Amino acid sequence: MPADAPDARIPERYSRQIRFAPIGPEGQRSLARSRVLVLGCGALGCAIAEQLARAGVGTLRLVDRDFVEVSNLQRQSLFSEDDAARSLPKSVAAASRLRAIVRDVRIDEHIVDVDASTISGLIAGCDLAMDGTDNFRTRHLLNEACARARVPWVYGACVGAYGCSLAILPGDGPCLRCIQDELPAAGDSPTCDTAGIIPPIVQVVAGWQVAEALKILVGASAQVRRDLWTTDLWSGSFQRLDMARWRDPRCAVCGTTPTYPLLSAPVDRSTVLCGRDAIQLRRGAMPDLVAITNRLATRVEAANEYLVRWSDGPLRATCFKDGRVIVQGTADPAVARTMCDRWLG
Ligand SMILES: [Zn+2]
Repeated sequence: MPADAPDARIPERYSRQIRFAPIGPEGQRSLARSRVLVLGCGALGCAIAEQLARAGVGTLRLVDRDFVEVSNLQRQSLFSEDDAARSLPKSVAAASRLRAIVRDVRIDEHIVDVDASTISGLIAGCDLAMDGTDNFRTRHLLNEACARARVPWVYGACVGAYGCSLAILPGDGPCLRCIQDELPAAGDSPTCDTAGIIPPIVQVVAGWQVAEALKILVGASAQVRRDLWTTDLWSGSFQRLDMARWRDPRCAVCGTTPTYPLLSAPVDRSTVLCGRDAIQLRRGAMPDLVAITNRLATRVEAANEYLVRWSDGPLRATCFKDGRVIVQGTADPAVARTMCDRWLG
């Protein structure tokens, strides 16, 4: 609950949740005091953030590097056609929608790429982190930063009609690295762009994740499930895998002598965005978006206070205020760099 909100409003708005005995009035007050990081504002991030905001979590930190596109609207439930037409950053569009749903929620939105240089600052001050990412590299980075900061996080993933989730508690049970010692190679795992996705699996996985989040936030840690849940909604299959024996005392992240391999690694200047036929470049200097918009003139397809997008033949580039550029239409970093150098200098 924000400090300035009158206590009397809580029972009315949250009456059905307070009536749920495991939460009750004390649990509701805990939720209001809680700060949760939602990493990624795609399909899972939208569903998670909406449920947490409606449940009365006091502060949400929303993080995403991308902007809303028409192809997102089928499953990313906080966005509208207008958001896509305006190419709004996802964290900004999500924050705006959430404020319309719950006026008193505090939202702290970030348009930023998550890497070893940014992740720890994003987790700082949060009681819990929620996985709304779409790739294992970012999940492992989150896993390392959460282990180091001793913050619990809830893993979730979905593609096609398949989904899974697992709560990861610091020092209690396995971490993601215990379960997956090696990162899958880029392109090894199916993504929503390569294998598609149906909306109901998003809501199922987000529901599993948020249920664990509520338990953690109200202090019901004994109720947090320690197994990996997986399901395929199309075939109707469902499994619970007990993960307790997976804890590895020699784990590089949660073992007795952690090395945090990803947090210690140098930050890449370019990233292949798997399944999207796109490259993300980090150019360092903060761009002057107005000057770029004026210089590119008729090539500009979208421009707002957060980004400028333009095209050059089959390539389309989007330059963000933080100095990142996403070039769509190539999987070759050299082609992307040539495109940027040509138009941004
Ligand atoms: Zn571990």
